Amino acid sequence: MSTKVFTFKGGIHPPHHKKQTEKLSIENAVEPKFVVIPLSQHIGAPCDPLVQVGDKVKVGQKIGDSKAFVSAPVHASISGSVKSIGLHITTGGSKVNCITIESDGLFEVHESVKPKGNIEDLSKEEILAIIKEAGMTGMGGAGFPTHVKLSPPKDKTIDTIILNGAECEPFLTADHRIMLEKPEQIVEGAKAIMKAVGVEKCYIAIEKNKPDAIETMRKAISGVNGLEVVPLEAKYPQGDEKRMINAVTGREVPSGGLPMDVGCIVDNVGTIATIGNVFLTGMPLVQRVTTVTGSAIKNPKNLYIRIGTLFKDIIEQCGGFSEEPGKIINGGPMMGIVQYTTEVPAIKGTSGILVLNKKDAKVPEASNCIRCGKCVDACPVHLQPFMISRQAILNNFEEAEKYYAADCIECGSCSFVCPAKRPLVETIRLAKKEVISKRKKA
Ligand code: SF4
Ligand code: SF4
Repeated sequence: MSTKVFTFKGGIHPPHHKKQTEKLSIENAVEPKFVVIPLSQHIGAPCDPLVQVGDKVKVGQKIGDSKAFVSAPVHASISGSVKSIGLHITTGGSKVNCITIESDGLFEVHESVKPKGNIEDLSKEEILAIIKEAGMTGMGGAGFPTHVKLSPPKDKTIDTIILNGAECEPFLTADHRIMLEKPEQIVEGAKAIMKAVGVEKCYIAIEKNKPDAIETMRKAISGVNGLEVVPLEAKYPQGDEKRMINAVTGREVPSGGLPMDVGCIVDNVGTIATIGNVFLTGMPLVQRVTTVTGSAIKNPKNLYIRIGTLFKDIIEQCGGFSEEPGKIINGGPMMGIVQYTTEVPAIKGTSGILVLNKKDAKVPEASNCIRCGKCVDACPVHLQPFMISRQAILNNFEEAEKYYAADCIECGSCSFVCPAKRPLVETIRLAKKEVISKRKKA
């Protein structure tokens, strides 16, 4: 049993703000009267609708799919009838084709939803096909289709899987609660992906500020071959996959490289618990645990919500706003995306809905850089944030590229520590976008 605590160089220690919800058990959300399900809530090709307006659908029924390999199907999260198919505003900020389903109040489960049998009796190919059909995507935020991640090219040998239970984003406690309340699903999911990739070693990496989760997962894996819990330093951005690989295995993913380049696959514990549920019950990804919290939420909660429920309906179940909101975020305060309306639907990657009051949301005024170097010390990628930001402000993206702007993981650590309150991550994000788009064109 490992007692050593692992970590990486750089990073920051923002206030955790997890006390509001870390002890709150997962509650089933009130069943929504209707859901709006985006046909694109993942990285890759959007789905085409498989239903038409007026069709009756049941829970777990596939309603959208794509022939592309890099894509993930979407399923009905309630039973009822298809009201419309068309553009709707989503958490990404743009309008996306969505299927709106009006509930019949029955929550009838589709005939295709059946337990998948013992993982030991399934082949690698069958496991991957089940994961793909279930619409699995990374639920930590990025939304990369899981079956693609688990199908590395033949020239890449994977020997290690890491389950990411760091949950280093302040405020969020959904993964923490999943580890406490659904450990058997995580173990089942871990067994499935280990077999799918042909890997014998799987670490469950958890920050040491969650000792109850470390203990629960250690008990849950006892007697299961190849699984090991690794405690990590509680530091942001410990949950970034490259930092996590470095902390757990000591391996460095090269600049521009991927985890598979150093023999690793990293998946979030919430994703793996859902995969476990897919094998145990047959239900595809139609629900997820979301932390609803922040200084302007009346009754913060960890809710088991149906994909497609509007933010406004979820917030209402938490007693609504306790005061006028200053900022609404899909995800956490460091890497989440600010929302300008509560009419957006929760998607597979909605790990949290954070609502800050006006005081907490206030952006301090920026002053000139004093060359203190704090942003350099904090950057987990060892970049020079003040230099990249300066070049971005000058529209000098070629120069920004020379400072490795494209390697920025947009963690916001530099902005957090900057005493001059420079808009570092915002300007660096702009430079990164320009550099990547230039490379794509080339
Ligand atoms: S430059 Fe990018 S990776 Fe480095 S601290 Fe800032 S946001 Fe994070
Ligand atoms: S932390 Fe802020 S003030 Fe200090 S060097 Fe970086 S940008 Fe300049």
